[in-house]
Amino acid sequence: MAGRHTPVMQQHADAKRAHPDAIVFFRLGDFYEMFGEDAIVGAKALDLTLTSRNKGKPDEVPMAGVPHHAAPAYIARLLALGHKVALCEQMADPATVKGIVPREVVRVITPGLVTDHDQLDSDSNNWLCAVELGASIGFSLLDVSTAELRAAEIADAGSLLAELSRAVPREVLFGGDEEQARSLAEAVALVVPRAARRFDVELAESALSEQLGDLAAEAGRFGAPVARAAARALRYVRACNPGVALPFRRFTTYDPQTTLAVDPTAQAHLELVTSVSGSREATLLGVLDRTRTPAGARLLRRRILAPLLDVEGIRRRLDRVELFVVHTRLREDLASALSGVGDLERLSMRAALGEATPRDLGALRDGLGAAARVTLVASSVKEAAEREALGLEEPLDCVEDLRERLAAALVERPPSQLKDGGVFAAGFDAELDELDALRRHGAERMVELEARLREQTNIGTLKVRYTRVFGWYIEVSKGQATRAPSEWRRKQTVASGERYTDDELDDLADRITTAEERHRLRELELFRELVDMARAASERIGRLSERLARWDVAAGLAEVAHRYDYARPAVDDSDRIEIRDGRHPVVERLAARGRFVPNDVVLDLEGERLWLVTGPNMAGKSTLLRQVALTVVMAQLGSYVPARSARIGIVDRVSSRVGASDNLAEGESTFMVEMRETAQILRTATRRSLVILDEIGRGTSTFDGLAIAWAVAEYLDDAVGCRALFATHYHELTKLSESSAHVANYSVSARELADDVVFLHRLVPGAASRSYGVAVAKLAGLPEPVLARARALLQFFERDGAVAAPRGARSAPQLHLFRPNPRSETEREVLDTLGAVEVDRMTGLEALGLLERLRRRLIE
Ligand code: ADP
Repeated sequence: MAGRHTPVMQQHADAKRAHPDAIVFFRLGDFYEMFGEDAIVGAKALDLTLTSRNKGKPDEVPMAGVPHHAAPAYIARLLALGHKVALCEQMADPATVKGIVPREVVRVITPGLVTDHDQLDSDSNNWLCAVELGASIGFSLLDVSTAELRAAEIADAGSLLAELSRAVPREVLFGGDEEQARSLAEAVALVVPRAARRFDVELAESALSEQLGDLAAEAGRFGAPVARAAARALRYVRACNPGVALPFRRFTTYDPQTTLAVDPTAQAHLELVTSVSGSREATLLGVLDRTRTPAGARLLRRRILAPLLDVEGIRRRLDRVELFVVHTRLREDLASALSGVGDLERLSMRAALGEATPRDLGALRDGLGAAARVTLVASSVKEAAEREALGLEEPLDCVEDLRERLAAALVERPPSQLKDGGVFAAGFDAELDELDALRRHGAERMVELEARLREQTNIGTLKVRYTRVFGWYIEVSKGQATRAPSEWRRKQTVASGERYTDDELDDLADRITTAEERHRLRELELFRELVDMARAASERIGRLSERLARWDVAAGLAEVAHRYDYARPAVDDSDRIEIRDGRHPVVERLAARGRFVPNDVVLDLEGERLWLVTGPNMAGKSTLLRQVALTVVMAQLGSYVPARSARIGIVDRVSSRVGASDNLAEGESTFMVEMRETAQILRTATRRSLVILDEIGRGTSTFDGLAIAWAVAEYLDDAVGCRALFATHYHELTKLSESSAHVANYSVSARELADDVVFLHRLVPGAASRSYGVAVAKLAGLPEPVLARARALLQFFERDGAVAAPRGARSAPQLHLFRPNPRSETEREVLDTLGAVEVDRMTGLEALGLLERLRRRLIE
C-alpha cells in the first residue's frame, strides 16, 4: 500500500506510524484532517460528518476534519475520553514553498499533558502519573503545566491506591510487571478512567540516566523503581513534546510514610476535597480555601490530602498562620497584593513550551509586578522569629530582570494573538518603531520627500507618485526635465513628463512596501526573544511562585481562623486527642448562625480511648465522629481548628467507615462493602491511628450485626489499641465498657417533649437510655394510628427483651388494632403483613423501615 500513497498521504502515514496510539490531527490548509481509523473514531466522538478522500479511487480513505481555529475545543473532547492527539503541522508557509509543504508532528497532547488554560482546573494539579510495578512500587507524578515532578516509593497495592486517590491523576502509565498491572486494573479504574491508563513500553537501563540527567541522584535516594517511574514520566513528556527543552528542575522525592494516611474511603467520607453533593462549599477545602493565587489553592489542596506527621514541621506551619492571625493588617495587605499575582507557574510553563501568547506575557509581567509588591509587604516584618517563620532569611528573587524587560517591551494590554500585532510598546525597539512609522506613515514620508526634493532642485512641478506597475517615482514636467540632478536615474518617459528615481526614493519605497512584512517579522523576533527570556527564567519563577503559595496558604488559613473563630491546636507526640468545644467545620457553616452545638471529646491511649456513641437517629453522631477526624486532619496540615482549644497527639492514619446511606433496600451489597472497608481498616490501623466507625453491622440481621459490631469493637480495643469513635444503634454494645477500662459510653442527647423529640446535639457521658425511633417517625409524619401501634409494640419489645431473648413470632401481641373492619384490599394486605411479621427478629430500624413501607401502601 505504502507505494501507492500520494506524497501528502505518505506524510500522514509517517506521522501515524510514529504515533500509532494517537489520533493524528493532520494540518491541511485551514483544517485539521483525520484519516482512516482516526476519522471513524474522531467523527463519532466529535459528531463530525465522515467523508472520504480520493473518493472512488483505489486509495479512497475515510476523512473527517475540524477548522484549525476551533481545534482546541475538539481536542479537549477527545482528551476527556482518554484519547491522545498528535498535532501534525505544516512546517513552512505553503505560499512560499514550491511543491509539497513539509509536515511534522510537533506535539502529542494527552489527558495528562494538557497545558491549555481552558482545559485546566486552576485549583488542582494536572498530574501524569507513572507507576513502576515490582517487588516495591515506584511512583511518580509530573505536572507539565507547572513543571513539577514528585516521586515516591510505595510499599504495596493498597498504598498505591491511596496515593492515586490523593493525586487523582489524569493519566497513568504502568511499567514493569505487566501481570501485576492487570491485577490492579479494576481497583485503579475507580480512580482513573480506563482510556487514560496505558501500559508503557520497556525502559532500557541506558534511558534512565538519559532522562533523569542530574536528577538521578535525588531519584536514586529511594532506589531503582522510583528512578524508573520518574524517568518514565519524563520520557513520555519529552516524546510528546519533541523539540522543546522542558525545565523539570523542581523535582522532589517524598516518603508517603511521613504523611498522615487518610484512606481513600475516609477521604471521601470526610468530604475533604469533594463532597457527596458535588458542592465545593460542602468540603473542608471549600471552607479552608481563602487563597488568592491558583498555586496557593493547589498547595492547600495537596496539604489537605497529605497532612504531616512531624511535630516540628506542623508547628512551623502553624507559626506562619499565627503570624497572620496576629498581624491583621499584614495579612490584609498581603492578600490584596497576592490577588494580582495570577498563575505564574503555568504562565512561565507556557512560555517554556513555546505556547505563550502576548497576553500571557502581559499576565506574567503583571503577576511578577504583584509578586514584587507581595515581597515588599512581607519584608516589612522585622521581628527575627517572624522573619524566620516567613522564610525571609533566604534571599528573595522576584525575577525583576524579566519583569523590567516585559514592562519595557509590552503594551498595557497585549493582544491574545501575535498575528493581531500591536504587541510592543512604542520606544522599546527603534527598528520596530521605524517599521511601524513606515507602515503607517509611508505616504506621508513620501510627501515629505517630495517637498524636500522640490526645494533642493527648485523644480516646481516635481511630484512623487506611485503606480502599482511602476512603484514609486519622481515625475518632472517636460519643460523642467533639464533641471533633474545627474544622480537621478531615468525610469520612463510619459506624455506629461519624465519619471525618475534615485537612491533615497528607492530605499524609502522599498522600506514602505516591505514595512508591513518586516514589521511582522520583527515583532515575531522580539516576541521570541521575550519568550526565550521567560523560558530561561521559568525555574526561578517556579521557586518564586512556590514561596508565594506558602504565604498565600498561611494567610488564607489565618483569615479563616480569624473569621470563624478557630483555635491554634497544640500538636505533640502525646497519646491524647483533647478537643474542647469542638465543632464540625463544614456543618457549622451550613447550620443557622450560632446553632451549632459544640462538644468535648477526649481520647487517651492510656485511658478512655474507644468511645461508644449512642443516640437517636439525627442526633448528630456522624457529625461528631467526622468533626473529630477533621480536627485531626486540620491540625496536622497546619491549620487552626474549630474548637475553643485542642491538643492533638499525632495520629498516623485516619480511617473511617461512615454511614453508607441508610439504604435498607440495598441490604446485602451494602453489607459486603461495609465489611470490606471494615476489614481494610482493621488490617491497616496501628496504635497511633484514629478510627471512626459509624453504624457497623446494620446492613445485616440483628444478631449478625450485633455480633460483628461487638467483635470489631473488641478487636479495636484489644488488638489494635488505637483511639476510636464508634457510633452504634446496638445498645447492647454499651455493655462492653463494663469489661474494658479503655471503652467509654457517650450519647448524643435528645429530649422528649410530649412524644416529640428535640435534638440537643449535646454529648453526655453514659449510654442513651432508649430509642427515639418512634418520636423521629412522628417527626417524619407517620399517621397517628401507626405511631400509637408502634409505641405499643415498643413497650412490648422492651419488656420482653426481644433481642436478648428471641422467641417465636407467636408471642407478638394481638394485631388488628387499627380498625375493626378493614375496608380495602390494601388495608387487609397491610394488616396481613403485620400479622406475619416476626417482630422480635427485627431491629428498631428494620421495624421503622417496615412501618414506612406500610405507611406508603396505605397512602398510595
Ligand atoms: P446521626 O448520625 O446521629 O443520625 P447526624 O450526625 O447525621 O446524626 O446529624 C443530623 C443533623 O443534625 C445534621 O445534618 C446536622 O445538621 C445536625 N447536627 C449534628 N450535630 C450538630 C451539632 N453539634 N449542632 C447543631 N446541629 C447538629
